[in-house]
Parts: sequence; C-alpha cells; structure tokens
Amino acid sequence: MREAGVRPIATNSPAESRADAVGDRDGVRALLTGPREPLFARADALRRERMGDAVYLRGIVEFSNICANDCLYCGIRRSNRAVRRYRLDDDEILAVAHRMKGWGHGTVVLQSGEVDARRENDRIARLIARIRRETDLSVTVSAGNRSREVYARWRDAGMDRHLLRFETSDPALFAAMHPDCSLAERLDCLRALRELGVQVGSGFLIGLPGETLETLVENILLVRDLDLDMVGVGPFIAHPDTPLAGRPNAWAHDPEICFAVIATLRLVDPDLRLPATTAFDAFFPGVGRDLALRRGADVFMPNDTPARVRGDYLLYPNKPCVDEGDGACAGCVTARIWSLGRMIGEGPGHSPKSLAHAAIS
Ligand code: SF4
Repeated sequence: MREAGVRPIATNSPAESRADAVGDRDGVRALLTGPREPLFARADALRRERMGDAVYLRGIVEFSNICANDCLYCGIRRSNRAVRRYRLDDDEILAVAHRMKGWGHGTVVLQSGEVDARRENDRIARLIARIRRETDLSVTVSAGNRSREVYARWRDAGMDRHLLRFETSDPALFAAMHPDCSLAERLDCLRALRELGVQVGSGFLIGLPGETLETLVENILLVRDLDLDMVGVGPFIAHPDTPLAGRPNAWAHDPEICFAVIATLRLVDPDLRLPATTAFDAFFPGVGRDLALRRGADVFMPNDTPARVRGDYLLYPNKPCVDEGDGACAGCVTARIWSLGRMIGEGPGHSPKSLAHAAIS
C-alpha cells in the first residue's frame, strides 16, 4: 500500500515515455530549433488553458551561503575565499516569513549551500516545523543532496516541496562540473523525494560550457521521465571567481533558446509549475522574467533574503534585486505581474499533478 500522497516513480521506458509527437527526441529538437514566435504563442496558450492566469509567488530566503561543495560554476563554492560567509538565525528567518503573507507570498523557499551535517539537518527540521506552526505558508527547501532519512524528517516536520536541480542530463558533463557528486546520486535523491510524497522540483542550467543541442533535448526528456512537479531552468552566467570565469554561455550565438526551453517544457509537460527564474533577468536585463512569464512560466520567486546579506549569495554575477531594501521586491513584483495582464495566485499554488494524485490516493 502506498503512503497517502505518494506517487510511484516514473517507470516508463524511454521508448514508451517518448512516444508522442511533441515529446519524442525529434519533436523536442524541432521545437527548440524551429520558428520561435509560434512556439511562444503555443506555450502561452497552453499555460493559460492548463494553469490559468495566476502567477504564484514563492519568496526565497537564502538562509546560509556556507557550502561544502565546489561546483565549478557557482559563486559560493567552498573554494571561493572572496565570499563573506553568513548563516541567518531562526528568529530572523521567521521575521521574514511573518511578513510574507502581506506581500502575497504563499510559499517560503528555504535555500542554502549544501552542508550535510547532523546539526544543520536538525536545524532545518526545526525551522520547517516552526514556520508551519507560526504561519500558513507552504515550505519549500532547497539545500542539496541528503539521505532519504533526512528528507523524511523534513517531510515529517512539514516540508511540502524540495528543489534539487539535476543541472545537466549528461553524466560526463555533470561529473566535470560537480567534483562532489555524481548525476546518479542526484537522481537517487530526486527519486527518494518522490517516494516520500514530497512535491519534487528540479531543473537545469542552459548553456554550460560543453553543452550541445542534444544535451538540451535530453534534459527536457529527463524532466518528463522524472515526472516532476516543478522545473526551474536558467542560463549559465560565468562567475569571475570560479574556474569557469570568462567562459561564454554555450548559446551566446542564440540566447533566445533559453525561452524556447521554457516554452518546450510547457508543451512537453503541460502541468509543470515553471518559475521565471532570477537568472533570466540577469541574462536579459529588465525583461527576462517578464518574457519567461509570457512564454510558458507561471511562478515568480522574489528574493526575500534580508538586504544586509543579499549581496553575499551570488551564484552568478549581475544578479538583480541585490540592492533593494527589505520587502521592496514585493511591490515591484506585483506591478510587473499586473502589467502582463496576470494576477497574483492566492494560496500555496501546489502542483496540479500533486493535487490530482492526492485526490485518488
Ligand atoms: S551550486 Fe549549490 S552545492 Fe554547488 S557549490 Fe553552489 S551552493 Fe554549493
């Protein structure tokens, strides 16, 4: 018997799961390389039909930039001695969470570097429980790879969702970028979360050095095979204090492919929650997230990290909203969404896939 809310791991063979016209390998490749405006229009129409016009706000609190890992593309990798490290205390995080409701946010996203230590894992469990007890926010955690047991504790404490990007579906490229982890380990974490009944978010970078069109095609097919609830994608932007400093995005000659990825994901997996990620505004200043919302996305993730440390959590350079005051993002985000003719989603904005499953389990 399955636990309530637990969906089985996708068991389709690649041949079975990729059998339809939009989602087979050739179909995905054709969408990514074909005419862009018709693709964007199809994705926007399907987003409206399946997800409605609401844009759900998930406020990110980057509660610690301490990380034990050394991912080559990341500005807060452990080897970057230029970073001023911080860890927010629980009361400061709760103070932000209490203000979120007034900002129209239904979810707090607790994000940090990866520190798989007992004390840190216990602390995250306490934090989740306290937020659930003191607010009516949903809780998403994005803190990296953990054992099934740790994820189970966080779920039992009240974690609704967990975000963990697979970054690339190419095992060799993954290994080159991540000295501390294999792609197989990352996918095992995603499957463990699925088995635990947690809503699962993942995603990938667009334009890592060494990436090809076939990598992007396989990334999109892997999203569907994993049967995810949410997918966040964002362009690779080289950080100057990393080994990839100065390396161009692999799609520098065709940056619009980033939007084609969003639109293709909407067509291939229509019920996904798709955030317009912050990196889109860094890569396409001033317009990136708006365009993503018009080309298939339905979630916005304002940065609610206290202003005094926001500049110390730079995974990539030119991150927007770093100099804004506490709470300033809220008004700006609302105005942006209204200007697109959309509305702020009320409540948690859970994945339609998870709601559909809960109804039959
Ligand atoms: S990407 Fe995440 S796990 Fe990797 S170094 Fe950066 S914060 Fe750490």
